[in-house]
Amino acid sequence: MTQNTPITVARGDGIGPEIMDETLRILDAASARLDISEITIGKAVYESGQSDSGITDASWDELLRTRIFLKAPITTPQGGGFKSLNVTVRKTLGLFANVRPCVSYHPSIETDHPGMDLVIVRENEEDLYGGIEYRQSQDVMAALKLISRPGTERIVRYAFEYARANGRKKVTCMTKDNIMKLSDGLFHSVFDEIGAEYPDIEQNHMIIDIGAAKVASAPHIFDVIVLPNLYGDIVSDIAAEVTGSVGLGGSCNIGQDFGMFEAVHGSAPDIAGQGIANPSGLLLGAVMMLTHIGQNDVAEKIHNGWLKTIEDGFHTGEIYREGVSTHKVGTKEFGDAVIERLGAKPEILKPVVYEGASEGGIKLPPLKIRPPQKTERVGVDIGLNWSGSPDDLAAKVLECVNDNLELSMISNRGVKVWPEGKPDTFCADNWRLRFLGKDGSTVLTSQVVALMDRMNQNDLNFTKSVMLNTFDGVKGFSAAQGE
Ligand code: NAD
Repeated sequence: MTQNTPITVARGDGIGPEIMDETLRILDAASARLDISEITIGKAVYESGQSDSGITDASWDELLRTRIFLKAPITTPQGGGFKSLNVTVRKTLGLFANVRPCVSYHPSIETDHPGMDLVIVRENEEDLYGGIEYRQSQDVMAALKLISRPGTERIVRYAFEYARANGRKKVTCMTKDNIMKLSDGLFHSVFDEIGAEYPDIEQNHMIIDIGAAKVASAPHIFDVIVLPNLYGDIVSDIAAEVTGSVGLGGSCNIGQDFGMFEAVHGSAPDIAGQGIANPSGLLLGAVMMLTHIGQNDVAEKIHNGWLKTIEDGFHTGEIYREGVSTHKVGTKEFGDAVIERLGAKPEILKPVVYEGASEGGIKLPPLKIRPPQKTERVGVDIGLNWSGSPDDLAAKVLECVNDNLELSMISNRGVKVWPEGKPDTFCADNWRLRFLGKDGSTVLTSQVVALMDRMNQNDLNFTKSVMLNTFDGVKGFSAAQGE
């Protein structure tokens, strides 16, 4: 006899308990092989004062035991210093990939984009979501965008492996590497490098601005889309919205050894307790969970039964349309209709076939081993606050330069303002000074420290410093605009 898979379930807040009840009832009726344990997360935990991230230590232990988490939406309290449970769970458990299929169900559900059937694969841990921010001066704030090679290799490979395992034909990468040549440039170049190992999959790159516009206007041209964290966050909401209803989308967050499955939508407090919420998003999240744990047979039975229910016109209020729908149903009646159709297949909508995905979901090979590169320090960028002109600043700085380091340029908000700046460039109160080793020579840490000390004594109080290195002779820093 096949063993049951242990999973952890949380009913969440708002409409969470209603849609979780239906989802569990359908899983049970479809004979899903699960050992379910339940934890309480969200509002009740935040308000009890047991944890400021909405989850107790005992619940963590339970999650670490089962490593599979079916989660209903929760309400994040506004203000009060509470931390987002979703971000905490994702980062603590290393859930590096967020996968969100966005499909339209024409002609059964009204949509402007009948041919839409795409999957967003979003990097989930890096980018601006590191939350590393600084106030550099009275007028200037800065956030650090971090893109790592291992993080990118993992998400890009996941996207290609996902495409292969799910019969998808094309992977599109979106970045803004025409502006962020190093960080987004790394994401794009790793996409090209890893993509070369998947010649069976069509692949292309788009600049994020036109890419996002195309997702809104012509979503049918996409298949799988892989993106860094922030672009993925924005594009996945655009794509979910374009399908017709936020209530229809399922989503999963995947790590090397852990999976969290949920609906795309939130806890919808405006309709909570009324028995009218659409349980489809959470149910489709549960279908993703079933393929992840190798129960493709059950996943297929539920997904096709659900498609048949939608096709037969059993629609909850937010998708009900006269002339398209046949029955306006509540949460429970919708669940009944799905259970009656377990084993049936849709005739107009395309039935799903789950094959290929193996138990434990997609397993990635170890990261590529790359030879260590030769790093050489060639300079330093020093940030400081100044309220005068760039020429006066340069004159004061040049008084401090007396050994191997030379002042090569000053920039303000990324634009070169010395030497030969343009008079119309607006300058804020925070400046960047770039010093390079004379004639391209290596720079010693002691020379940097001595320079900073002389600047300090000359009333030039620096706010930060960043060492400038080359890697196998290639510059590891960008030029200023206009440099
Ligand atoms: P929401 O997704 O909860 O609701 C947006 C709109 O869609 C509302 O009008 C709602 O009634 C409707 N809607 C959502 N799900 C539906 C469903 N299944 N059936 C029918 N209609 C549905 O977004 P919101 O109002 O911005 O957020 C409410 C709360 O949810 C907030 O506290 C937010 O922090 C939280 N939230 C949680 C998660 C999560 O736990 N994964 C995700 C997003 C938002």
